[in-house]
Amino acid sequence: MVEVHQHDVVIVGGGAAGLRAAIAAVEADPNASIALVSKVYPMRSHTVSAEGGAAAVARPDDTLEMHGYDTVKGSDFLGDQDVIQYFVEQAPKELTLLEHWGCPWSRNDDGSVATRAFGGMTTKRTWFAADKVGFHMLHTLFQHSMRFDGIVRFDEFFVTKLLVEDGAVRGVAALEIRTGEMKAILGRAVILATGGAGKCFPFTTNGNIKTGDGMSLAYRAGVPLKDMEFVQYHPTGLPGTGILITEATRGEGGYLRNADGERFLVERDYGLGTKAELGPRDMISRAIYQEVQAGRGIKGPYGDFVHLDLTHLGEEKINSRLPFVRELGKTYAGVDPVHEPIPIRPVVHYMMGGVDTDIEGATLLPGLYAAGEVAAVSMNGANRLGSNSLTECLVFGAKAGEKAVEFARHASAGSEGRLRAQAEEEAGRIDGLRGKKKGGERIAQVRREMTEAMEEGCGVYREQSSMHQACRDLAQLKGRAADLVLSDESKVFNTEVLTALELHNMLDVAESVALAAAARKESRGAHACSDFPTRNDQEYLHHSLVWFEPGGPRVDRKDVTLGTWEPEERKY
Ligand SMILES: Cc1cc2nc3c(=O)[nH]c(=O)nc-3n(C[C@H](O)[C@H](O)[C@H](O)COP(=O)(O)OP(=O)(O)OC[C@H]3O[C@@H](n4cnc5c(N)ncnc54)[C@H](O)[C@@H]3O)c2cc1C
Repeated sequence: MVEVHQHDVVIVGGGAAGLRAAIAAVEADPNASIALVSKVYPMRSHTVSAEGGAAAVARPDDTLEMHGYDTVKGSDFLGDQDVIQYFVEQAPKELTLLEHWGCPWSRNDDGSVATRAFGGMTTKRTWFAADKVGFHMLHTLFQHSMRFDGIVRFDEFFVTKLLVEDGAVRGVAALEIRTGEMKAILGRAVILATGGAGKCFPFTTNGNIKTGDGMSLAYRAGVPLKDMEFVQYHPTGLPGTGILITEATRGEGGYLRNADGERFLVERDYGLGTKAELGPRDMISRAIYQEVQAGRGIKGPYGDFVHLDLTHLGEEKINSRLPFVRELGKTYAGVDPVHEPIPIRPVVHYMMGGVDTDIEGATLLPGLYAAGEVAAVSMNGANRLGSNSLTECLVFGAKAGEKAVEFARHASAGSEGRLRAQAEEEAGRIDGLRGKKKGGERIAQVRREMTEAMEEGCGVYREQSSMHQACRDLAQLKGRAADLVLSDESKVFNTEVLTALELHNMLDVAESVALAAAARKESRGAHACSDFPTRNDQEYLHHSLVWFEPGGPRVDRKDVTLGTWEPEERKY
């Protein structure tokens, strides 16, 4: 019989958003019991790999208004302005709180917190701890979370299903990876903090665990996915591996150069004005793509690339501000950035879209909340500004934690027997996958074809014909994925089963990206559609929603919350 664990709130995800939510929940109600479930040990969450920094107003020459405007403009006017307003107000408080919990922010000579420039931000407002920001932030949160007995961890438990009864979420079914046993982890509210889904693409900065699980869990439970067409390409990834070279390199003064050694962002008109290397990611990624198309790229074994040149910054600055970049350059590209430029090309980095939530992180399903990269609280709209995401995890993780614990106080727990029965049914489904010899499809093959379809159909530039082709390919791949063959029959650490589950999740996400992209017949932010090269506010100043329906997905729209800042042409 499936073991049942009773808690007040269940949080799925041990990254920045999940840990911040857990701390906020126990602080709001010290008697609450919070289950923190993660498919990897929390310190292995993708947050740990963030390099560049976290944005919040810190300097006397900066204002909340400026941070708000930069974020709205960065979003190509698709970010909800009430959400952005709340975000910029909370951001400095959250980063200061992290400092009090031990985060070692880098300092100016006078002892104040140091900030660096980041793309699309008018002034230096990105807080950093050298170029290992995610590591320090996650460590701080993880250590702080251990102070609370109310936070009960389920490390290396893979959530496969939301348990829903009488129209409300009541917990999750989670597979203990070590034993292969299914558990019912019950709570009167559930927060999804499962991160992004870059692994739907072949070339990404994202860790292998970023497979969109939470997006698929919510989608299958009837919650729509919002703004999925907006996938962020980061301009500077290492060819071959996709390892990220942080935007902080440009924040510290790095240049992009083409095959002729030309600083093309300065020499040519890519709409970036004096921003040049400090422009937003979507526009710089497109500029690199165009340079390569025009034959000004440099040929390499993994395709054409351009150069990121830091040599003029000097060894001392690189060692103090960008030590990790030097290490990555030497180890993974065979170049020492102090003396040579680094080869780079645009790479899939971040999902602007995700589970549709309101400003408090609540979804349409009573009791279900989402925060962090898995969620689309609508802060990032069509394009996220670098360094807003880590802060977003804190601001909206905290909000979701508070609100979930408040919800749980008044919600009913549901019937333990019926919830256990649901988890048992789920255990049966997973048992059916283990060592499933009948079936003709290999996981790796379907996965490869999925990532190829995404790159072809939903890349830096998109065409109507290729997006529609991707929709057809993905629908077909979903059918084929129902027929997977698995060879590992064991229960203990059966990673093959996990890979199959992740593939199903990614196919849901990939299909929703392609469908939402094909439906948006304009270009906005990260969605650059060659057939419709301009923004069309009259018809498309709205969010898109993709709903799971038994007969096939349905694409729909939702209003954008405007405010102080009227939509205008996005030029820098
Ligand atoms: C290389 C890199 C560098 C970055 N640098 C920056 C930066 O400098 N500044 C910035 O603002 N942003 C940066 N970002 C983006 C930012 O780091 C992420 O958006 C953010 O850390 C996401 O945090 P999260 O808490 O939402 O999810 P994650 O940190 O991805 O954590 C997800 C959690 O969910 C758990 N989980 C997932 N699925 C399941 C499941 N089925 N069952 C149980 N648990 C599950 C995982 O175990 C994990 O604990 C970077 C991203 C990358 C990839």
